[in-house]
Amino acid sequence: MKKIGIIGAMELEVEELKRKMEVSRKVEKTSMEFLEGTLNGTPVVIVRSGIGKVNAALCAQILCDTFQVSHIINTGVAGSLKNEIDIGDIVISADALHHDVDVRVFGYPLGEVPQIGCLAFPADKHLVELAVSSCKEVNPDIHVYEGRIVSGDQFVSDKQVKENIIKNFQGFCVEMEGASIAHAAYLNKVPFVIIRAISDKADDSAEMDYPTFEKAAAAHSAALVEHMLPEI
Ligand code: SAH
Repeated sequence: MKKIGIIGAMELEVEELKRKMEVSRKVEKTSMEFLEGTLNGTPVVIVRSGIGKVNAALCAQILCDTFQVSHIINTGVAGSLKNEIDIGDIVISADALHHDVDVRVFGYPLGEVPQIGCLAFPADKHLVELAVSSCKEVNPDIHVYEGRIVSGDQFVSDKQVKENIIKNFQGFCVEMEGASIAHAAYLNKVPFVIIRAISDKADDSAEMDYPTFEKAAAAHSAALVEHMLPEI
């Protein structure tokens, strides 16, 4: 049966979806509140994971174990890693990796988790295509990009740090949860996609831009998730 797990790191990334859903069950686990029910008729479980990779991975695992979700969608905001990807634009994950994993000393490429067999976790092709086409329908004025999303336990707001991440990983945007949700979904063999709207440019302007644009960006991403749900 179809049941979509929807994760946002922060309340503002899921508040609108939660407000619109019909809740049939509330489960409190690992200090997170999971709301199960339907959104416009689609079975969903919506949850705020908290910020960072550990919170996000725990949350994804609970969605798999306790709720047996069939798909996982991560919605939220991110810093752009490409000049042409502007604040307000949307990035859909082709794949996701951890930019802060470094076990090169034993021969692994930078970013690869040892003994797992892949550098980046591939997103589900059907979910990616749906997200891209839904975005064109819902937000025709917003540019949508399909590419790599990189995550680390770090808010990137320094030009040099940003340049290094770009050089090492060729990411489209950077955030703090996507790769660990992808990682958990990969191990559980659950299809996933990460949808992120750009809130800042992940450089020295990020400290100013992020608070200004996070709310609108988060809302764009959530609107897109709502639109694509019936098609899954
Ligand atoms: N304002 C929050 C902290 C937000 S941390 C507080 O005060 O508690 C930034 C969040 O947005 C993370 O969930 C991350 O996934 C995303 N994000 C947006 N821009 C980012 C950037 N430049 N670098 C890393 N994460 C970013």
